[in-house]
Amino acid sequence: MFRKHQAPIFQFFLLTLSVLLVTACQSTPVAPSESLMIVSTTTIVGDIVQTIGGDHITLTVLLPPGMDPHKFEPNPQEMASLVDADLIFANGAGLEEFLEPLIVSNQLEDEVINVSDGIEYLVGVHGTENDEHEGEYTDDAEGDGEEDHDHGQIDPHTWTDPNNVLVWVDNITAALSSADPGHALDFQANAEAYKTLLKDLDQWVREQVATIPQENREIVTDHQLFGYYADAYGFIQVGAIIPAFSTSAEASASEIAALEDAILKLNARAIFIGNTINPQLAERISQDTGVQLYTVYTGSLSDPGGEAPTYLEYIRYNTNVFVTALQ
Ligand SMILES: [Zn+2]
Repeated sequence: MFRKHQAPIFQFFLLTLSVLLVTACQSTPVAPSESLMIVSTTTIVGDIVQTIGGDHITLTVLLPPGMDPHKFEPNPQEMASLVDADLIFANGAGLEEFLEPLIVSNQLEDEVINVSDGIEYLVGVHGTENDEHEGEYTDDAEGDGEEDHDHGQIDPHTWTDPNNVLVWVDNITAALSSADPGHALDFQANAEAYKTLLKDLDQWVREQVATIPQENREIVTDHQLFGYYADAYGFIQVGAIIPAFSTSAEASASEIAALEDAILKLNARAIFIGNTINPQLAERISQDTGVQLYTVYTGSLSDPGGEAPTYLEYIRYNTNVFVTALQ
């Protein structure tokens, strides 16, 4: 009865209102048919983001497999993908030295999510015998300005402990859900399933490490990146061939000689070399000292067809190498 007596002007009003409502719906972060444009920095961050985001995101991983995250510099095309992204997932904790100036110059503060936020960071050159080298990292890392004074000694390699990646999962899930609330339940379900796998992985690592004699649980690496892993599973990092957190730092001849002495004194069984640095220096030290050299995955996953194409396989691969090398 009411409709029969609607004046044309009232019908126009209703039409206008419905157009406004539809327009309002379309201005929410993601329309139903679209997926979020996501950028991750490293392959490791990208693997976890893809696992949580599933089909609802379109992911670009900035660093190719094998790229050292400490040394990466984006080209103009990669810079454009960063600026265009809905969200940028970074490890944070100072790992991506290239990112901080870009955030400032492109006003990306709201887009960048540091997945390590909330983790209790290790500080200082952790568990090393090379304490005299502390502080060199901040001298060598140029271009970061005053940030170095506050954060230069934080160990950024949070992912080496799967328990820290539980925090990553929460941070990623919260950010994706906030940007695309319509798929929050899917993100949550993916997160819960993956957390179960991470807890199983942690248990598996404990069982593997238990087979290594206690006195052999010493890790010598190319740079100090297994601090969180060492803390979680009862290893000691007894030295690094480049004695700092970042591969940007160069080892001097006297530092190499000092490390060779330290390796010989410590009777190290093995040196573990990352997939992201030139192994020549490590090979020289291996030859000088007669200590066996093993390759592990450090700041990057392998190629998709390689030995460690996912984070879960990355941890399993490295753990298997430690178990083999340290018996
Ligand atoms: Zn590193």
